[in-house]
Amino acid sequence: MYRNELKLSFSSLSENEGFARSCVASFCLPLKPSIEIITDIKTAVSEAVTNCVVHAYPDTKGLIDIRVVLEEKYIYISIKDYGVGIADISKAKQPFFTSKPDSERSGMGFTVMESFMDSVMINSTINQGTEVVLIKNLEEEAIAIGG
Ligand code: ATP
Ligand code: MG
Repeated sequence: MYRNELKLSFSSLSENEGFARSCVASFCLPLKPSIEIITDIKTAVSEAVTNCVVHAYPDTKGLIDIRVVLEEKYIYISIKDYGVGIADISKAKQPFFTSKPDSERSGMGFTVMESFMDSVMINSTINQGTEVVLIKNLEEEAIAIGG
């Protein structure tokens, strides 16, 4: 059985977002995912990391920890912060809900993650932090549009 694991820990700075998503994308290459699947993973990781950068540490900077496990044909990605936490997860997941409407946020991050990944789980405790777990089957067939 193929298994591989990666851990990353970095400061909650916006310039680390591109690095984090490329790192996760490169790590899954041994399983030869399609370009579409790589793009989906990059998009979802980018949304989750951006949330840690933008929301988790409002008055300070903190750490973002990523753990990736490749197991058989699946990728599991845990993205964790130690910040303010989310009071109402079901509200936060609703399309267009944002706690920062005046700073060009559209409230679509969790909706994007849910549409690009097979499974999205959120665990959060106020003032302790938030963990988002993203799961995807890397061998998924591409959905043909219009044909
Ligand atoms: P967008 O992602 O479209 O720029 P957004 O970040 O506000 O806007 P979502 O990503 O869907 O939208 O997140 C919804 C809300 O959940 C956020 O506005 C914020 O209140 C809360 N949230 C999300 N991630 C975190 C986090 N890591 N820590 C604290 N709060 C969070
Ligand atoms: Mg967001």
